[in-house]
Amino acid sequence: MNSQHPRERLIKHLYGYGIKSRLVLEAIRAVPRHLFVDKSLVNYAYADHPLPIGYGQTISQPYIVARMTEILLQEGHLSKVLEIGTGCGYQTAVLARVVGKVYTVERIKNLSLQARETLGLLGVKNVEFNYSDGQWGWLDHAPYQGIIVTAAPTKIPQALLAQLAIGGRLVIPVGPQHGRQVLTKVTRTRTEYEYSSFDDVTFVPLCKGIN
Ligand code: SAH
Repeated sequence: MNSQHPRERLIKHLYGYGIKSRLVLEAIRAVPRHLFVDKSLVNYAYADHPLPIGYGQTISQPYIVARMTEILLQEGHLSKVLEIGTGCGYQTAVLARVVGKVYTVERIKNLSLQARETLGLLGVKNVEFNYSDGQWGWLDHAPYQGIIVTAAPTKIPQALLAQLAIGGRLVIPVGPQHGRQVLTKVTRTRTEYEYSSFDDVTFVPLCKGIN
């Protein structure tokens, strides 16, 4: 597939919708989104929409991937980031281009394996995968300067707050499956957690257990 033209169009579209971070736009430009979707959907890969990836899950809309990454990086470079909800690995690949190291957790085994394969094909080296229930974070590598969650809980899991480094930030959609979900940023200071709200969003729910 010659994806150069549709990719450029997508970058212009994201810029027009308020994504101004060059670093993030360059990362979106560099990651071939068509390799993360089923062959039957490649023609839609550079449209700004979520798409089905099987198992009742989706690949996130490019705008949302860009927006979350931009919010995560607002205060500068991050060397170590935890991602909950690997899915097909698209957000993971974008993150891997803009942070030092990504630890990513997925509760559906086949998706985790598939994402590992796709990122392997793309030669991405700075990502470690874990098949487990991400509401418990990934304690082995904590604390994290950044945590990004790509599925929505109704309440922020305590373990994720606890695994955030002082000065670190968590970007997470919060809200019920069929109700209002708000993209939320939590910054950990020495003494407290500070909350700020961003866009209304629609994510699949953060589920419990593994599958
Ligand atoms: N980050 C993906 C979007 C993934 S969709 C992208 O770039 O497109 C959300 C993913 O979160 C799904 O794959 C779902 O299985 C996963 N998920 C939901 N609850 C989870 C949990 N408790 N732990 C880990 N992954 C979870």
